[in-house]
Amino acid sequence: MGSVERGPSDPTQPAGGPPPSAPRTAPLIVLSGPSGVGKTTLVDGLIDRQTLPLRRAVTATTRGRRPGEVPGVSYHYWTHDQFRQAIARGEMLEWAEVHGVDFYGTPRAEVDAYRAAGVGVILVIDVQGAGQVRLLYPGDHRSVFVLPPAFDELHRRLEGRGEPEASIRRRLETARGELARADEFDTVLENADLGAATDALEAIIRDDFTRRGF
Ligand code: ADP
Ligand code: 5GP
Repeated sequence: MGSVERGPSDPTQPAGGPPPSAPRTAPLIVLSGPSGVGKTTLVDGLIDRQTLPLRRAVTATTRGRRPGEVPGVSYHYWTHDQFRQAIARGEMLEWAEVHGVDFYGTPRAEVDAYRAAGVGVILVIDVQGAGQVRLLYPGDHRSVFVLPPAFDELHRRLEGRGEPEASIRRRLETARGELARADEFDTVLENADLGAATDALEAIIRDDFTRRGF
């Protein structure tokens, strides 16, 4: 399976965002899917191609850093207190409690200024966050749900990433609920072959740049 288009997020809005007379704003792409399906790998691989002006929003989390992750690049690592204060100051575009233990959220500063400067922004967030963005930016974003080729493959990829067994179990439990919500997204994209999935994601985003007059 390649990608399956489902049309714009809000059927009452024209596809592709603002009318031609409005200032051009670069795409906002929401990418969700179960932990371990390969969202980060896909997005970082696409950005590395340098075929489109794109940036992955660096989101904030209260979870601990994994080996190899870099603060301010992989995530902003915040304490629960820092996270609560950012919410109270109105600095979060969306946030959610994921896997029942940790908070994750997108700081507003990671999104609007980049889009206004012509850089497409990709949010790699969970299905709850995707639902919030759907309400905040109706008709002004595209949402993509990444599917694994098989459920067992998720387990293998999480193991391959070096997750401890308890963390794998929690992520696989969350995954079942997330997979049930795939049809809320504009497009469903299977990440079996990484190159093919990256090509499909690139085509979706390129199409959105074109619709926006870039
Ligand atoms: P996510 O961001 O969705 O949690 P990651 O990008 O961290 O997932 O990927 C999880 C693991 O799966 C990583 O070890 C990554 O190298 C591997 N992976 C990603 N895409 C593929 C693919 N198409 N085929 C095989 N392994 C993959
Ligand atoms: P992980 O701990 O595996 O890096 O991420 C767990 C889940 O949290 C993933 O589904 C990831 O997409 C999601 N996530 C990461 N950042 C954010 C965010 O800013 N907001 C929301 N809602 N989810 C996020």
